[in-house]
Amino acid sequence: FAPWTDPSAKPFIAFKNITKRFGNFTAVDDLSLNIYHREFFALLGASGCGKSTLLRMLAGFEQPTSGEIILDGTDLAGTPPYKRPVNMMFQSYALFPHMTVEKNIAFGLEQDGMAKDEMAERVTQMLKLVKLEQFASRKPNQLSGGQRQRVALARSLAKRPKVLLLDEPLGALDKKLREETQFELMDLQQTLGLTFVVVTHDQEEAMTMADRIAVMSHGKVVQVATPAEIYEAPNCRFVADFIGDVNIFDGKVTTSGNGAVEIAVDSGFTIRIAAPDTPAIGSTAGFAIRPEKIRVSRAAPANTPVNAAKGEIWDIGYLGDMTVFHIKLASGQFVRTSSLNAQRSVEDPFTYDQDVWVSFDQDAGVLLKD
Ligand code: ATP
Repeated sequence: FAPWTDPSAKPFIAFKNITKRFGNFTAVDDLSLNIYHREFFALLGASGCGKSTLLRMLAGFEQPTSGEIILDGTDLAGTPPYKRPVNMMFQSYALFPHMTVEKNIAFGLEQDGMAKDEMAERVTQMLKLVKLEQFASRKPNQLSGGQRQRVALARSLAKRPKVLLLDEPLGALDKKLREETQFELMDLQQTLGLTFVVVTHDQEEAMTMADRIAVMSHGKVVQVATPAEIYEAPNCRFVADFIGDVNIFDGKVTTSGNGAVEIAVDSGFTIRIAAPDTPAIGSTAGFAIRPEKIRVSRAAPANTPVNAAKGEIWDIGYLGDMTVFHIKLASGQFVRTSSLNAQRSVEDPFTYDQDVWVSFDQDAGVLLKD
């Protein structure tokens, strides 16, 4: 499943040059984005980057200042929210407290004037879908947080929208329940074959659930890619820094071309990267590398002094599944490395204050040209 890799695939949802201004503040800035049928798509970004505004424009709660939103081939301009084949799932506290689970789920259907029999059947289906059959006649305050969340989900799916929009859907749940619910949402999306668009500021949530992620900043999409691409090949400093842990080495380009770039980094060693880019010699550049891609050794690696530097173990953090080391280089820069404990030998190899080498392969990180 990867329709975005097929240039002939038609997007299901297309945002075309969307701008949204509130007074003279630009919340969404000339943004274009394609989402495909049956995709689980995440809009990820820090608070205020415009992700909720984008979702609300798709739902029809806000109108774009300019630009078009096309859904399944139809321009949505002028279509009121209730006529769009889109439904928004709100957090569980938006349930009606005085109504039973059943009535909460039936609410939208009743408003639409659905026949009683059909409605009863649909509600039963939805209760089954979210595994709440035994809870049909309870009120929301007689349910756990996770169960309430499932009622909210059933309510938003009852009208069988083509697209489900979720704005920080799991924000109210504790960590364990949130993780469980993430997998439930993924299962449900697969089972129903719907398009899900989720807004979140939680990168783990986006990485876990989404087929693709759009990383947003200041009303613009900075990168759209699969979770693995975003993590392993961030296209700029902002994304490298925003997603996961990263080490960034800054310096000046000394060699450029023939498939390789060399940077003399401020930390006093040379980085050679296999990259098709040809930044100007003398220009500033950076190198971003994830902690687990850095090797730590007692002996100097063979390629010294390229892609290798001497340092001292400063901190050791045992996290159960992995151990994180903070290593201080001679320049004073700290390097974060991590290793999976399952892959470690019996002997604990490193202690505080120990002198070590850090090194990495030339394709282990990415060049940052900004
Ligand atoms: P959060 O995660 O905090 O909800 P967000 O990325 O979803 O953030 P939006 O809710 O889309 O951000 O808001 C983007 C910007 O637009 C914010 O600076 C916000 O203050 C502003 N904004 C949103 N709605 C309005 C409004 N109705 N009037 C004026 N400014 C608004």
